[in-house]
Amino acid sequence: MDYRLANRVAVVTGGTSGIGLAVTNLLLAEGANVALCARDAARLKAVVDDCVARHGADRVLGMEADVRDKAAMALFAQGVEAKFGGADILINNAGQGRMSNFADTADEVWTDELDLKFFSIIHPTRAFLPLLERGRDAAIVCTNALLAVRPEAYMIATSAARAGVLNLVKSLANDFAGKNIRVNSVLIGLVESNQWERRYQAALAADPKVTRDAWFGALARSRHIPLGRLGKPEEAAQAIIFLASPASSYVTGTTIDVSGGQASHV
Ligand code: NDP
Repeated sequence: MDYRLANRVAVVTGGTSGIGLAVTNLLLAEGANVALCARDAARLKAVVDDCVARHGADRVLGMEADVRDKAAMALFAQGVEAKFGGADILINNAGQGRMSNFADTADEVWTDELDLKFFSIIHPTRAFLPLLERGRDAAIVCTNALLAVRPEAYMIATSAARAGVLNLVKSLANDFAGKNIRVNSVLIGLVESNQWERRYQAALAADPKVTRDAWFGALARSRHIPLGRLGKPEEAAQAIIFLASPASSYVTGTTIDVSGGQASHV
């Protein structure tokens, strides 16, 4: 499928790992120029060096920046404009989930989680909006979670924050429709990434006999995923790229479920 992304400029937050890295690689393979940000300088350099080696320095910009830092997002947008002259696509992907239930979620944790989920979208969106307004077939895609519509008590704060993000995405879509900027999200179930790798490593430390296949298989079974496995980052990236591209030109204010059938509602 031709996503018609050649020479478009795409911005990916959290582009150095998991879903964001898969999106970065797919965008570059489809001919887009990509600007990515993340906090870990060493990992950012390694990813950018690899992308430059495969696609050339003209097409890649990496910036060490925290999406929760408004000033850093403004600098990131300035850097993108200076290098590429503008931006057509913003992928609000950076973040992580938090496992905690009501009893062990302190008030400060609630505040922190809500801050991360909302401002990881608000700061980049505010910073890049002037560029997107001038962009071609502009689109924003947010990496959200199935938790937004299927809350889990063991991820209580993340679930509530994700539901708020779903609402925010709809409002942004309505607000920006007149500017010809589409806004959509993907609802991720469980996708293999650094987040799950860290949890597997913790389980391995507790029990050195737990193999990767056994741990991930048990996880998929415990979550009753109909397709019987976690998703691959590349599978999430395909849905994100569709929503980011002119291939979805009449789609805004909605979601694609990327959960292997885990959603229980119709
Ligand atoms: P990874 O941990 O593999 O990747 C996260 C990326 O985001 C990294 O590049 C990380 O780099 C970056 N990042 C994290 N926090 C910040 C920050 N404050 N500012 C800038 N960059 C940041 O995670 P996933 O690929 O799994 O997650 C991607 C998104 O998908 C997240 O929003 C996550 O919550 C969501 N999601 C994932 C699910 C899954 O099962 N994988 C399920 C539901 C939702 P660095 O640490 O260097 O900053």
